[in-house]
Amino acid sequence: MPSVCWQEIDRAILAAQSSEAIAQTSPGHINALVPYWRIDISLFDWSARQRVVLSSAGHGTRRFPTGMRLSLEEYGGEDLAALRAGQVYVVEDILRLATPPATVQALHDDGARSYVRVPLVVRSELIGSLNLWNDQAGAFTLEQVDIACEVADQLAIGIQQARLYEQVRRHAAELEARVAERTAELQEINAELESFSYSVSHDLRSPLLAVQGFAEILLEDHDDRLGDDGRSCAQSIVAGARRMATLIEDLLTYSRLSRAALELIPVSLEAVVAEVLTQLEPEIRGKDAHVSIEKPLPHVTGHAVTLIQVVTNLLMNGLKFVAPGVRPQVRVWAEAGDERICLRLQDNGIGIAAEHQERIFGVFERLHDRDTYPGTGIGLAIVRKSIERMGGHVGVESAPGQGSTFWIALRRVLRP
Ligand code: ADP
Repeated sequence: MPSVCWQEIDRAILAAQSSEAIAQTSPGHINALVPYWRIDISLFDWSARQRVVLSSAGHGTRRFPTGMRLSLEEYGGEDLAALRAGQVYVVEDILRLATPPATVQALHDDGARSYVRVPLVVRSELIGSLNLWNDQAGAFTLEQVDIACEVADQLAIGIQQARLYEQVRRHAAELEARVAERTAELQEINAELESFSYSVSHDLRSPLLAVQGFAEILLEDHDDRLGDDGRSCAQSIVAGARRMATLIEDLLTYSRLSRAALELIPVSLEAVVAEVLTQLEPEIRGKDAHVSIEKPLPHVTGHAVTLIQVVTNLLMNGLKFVAPGVRPQVRVWAEAGDERICLRLQDNGIGIAAEHQERIFGVFERLHDRDTYPGTGIGLAIVRKSIERMGGHVGVESAPGQGSTFWIALRRVLRP
């Protein structure tokens, strides 16, 4: 047996990732081992009682394109019975057949005189047959029939392997499509939720302003008729309405972040920090805080207004979350990496335990009650979303009682 060809056919079959690829490469290799006048490989579709042409090559005028379906009945009862029994079916001379089956007659009309059908079997199931034809009677030797059987075994393994491969690929593609579909659904639901919370927050503003306004009118114009209890109630209404107004503003800011298109351009961190310091000047003075800025601060790729909001939130927290009686101190500096600039804000506050350091960036996540440290719990969620929208990252390094260092990393600008 020519071993080079044998190895080639093995390799070609095993490398093929689809039955069609096997069918295309096999005939040439088989011809070198078992010379034929014509070859066809068919797979059986038992439920439809049909055979599907996988490959057809060689001489003769009749062409059976790949994928063509033909009735299994035309194969011939005896031929099929032998294949089903796992046997090779050899016809040395078609002329000697009393009633040749339809397919055989058709090929004989085309010039065929003898043929061999070899079963393709996978785990004792007949999946198809390899058919070799010759224009001479008694053309196939016993040795060639043996070789054809071995080739058929290889073919069957290759086809089964290719079918499994196709199945896995199909499943993977289905899975991918399903994940994409779910993601799209979730994105849609998220967008709906966001627009819902946006419109609710928006619509709550005017009735809230009315509540607050009327309570203030009560306090200002009808103070003499309120009495102590009435005054205290009206003051509570005003305080509650103000808290709620802040909460609504924060929620609106958070919602707007998803909707607004942020144009990312070079932004000077120095200018951003200077603006924040100006805005928070009364707060810093009121708390007798010390804020030190280590210049120069470089440029980053970002959105100035959003960055001002981010740094304001972080600095406000640094000033707020200190132990009673401690003078707040915040140090601000920048570190440059190859691709990113990291702006750091280190405080001397109460610190955050490791297990809370991730969740505080979620909406409404707070570690303290409102009386000890007032707030809405949205500040850091705004920080995270803003930074993500600018293509950056945010994080914190902290330990209880040891202060915290919040950092934001944004793309650096090489030539601002
Ligand atoms: P808020 O400040 O309105 O409470 P944030 O979203 O800004 O909301 O912060 C969430 C929580 O994270 C805070 O309630 C606080 O418990 C914790 N936190 C944030 N910044 C600091 C900080 N610098 N030091 C200690 N804890 C902090």
